[in-house]
Amino acid sequence: MFILKGIDQLTNAIAKAKKVRPRVEFDCFGRYRVSGSKGYYTVICRKDERGYKTVACTCKGAERGLACYHAAAALSLHIGLARQQQTA
Ligand SMILES: [Zn+2]
Repeated sequence: MFILKGIDQLTNAIAKAKKVRPRVEFDCFGRYRVSGSKGYYTVICRKDERGYKTVACTCKGAERGLACYHAAAALSLHIGLARQQQTA
């Protein structure tokens, strides 16, 4: 899991996501399934009690606190949905 502080943090992960083009499946708001090399990973985007945006992914990289491309792919969908909710 990592705390999302800014988009800069995701630059590499976004570049990789663009190359790999993982499939992102919507589970519910804040919860997505992203295809990876070993099947699907679950990515959970939420705000913690201190107001930090946290992103958790079930892959090995995210376990070590890295911003993985699964998270980047899920976040691009999540951010779009969050915007829609705010404007609705
Ligand atoms: Zn991941």
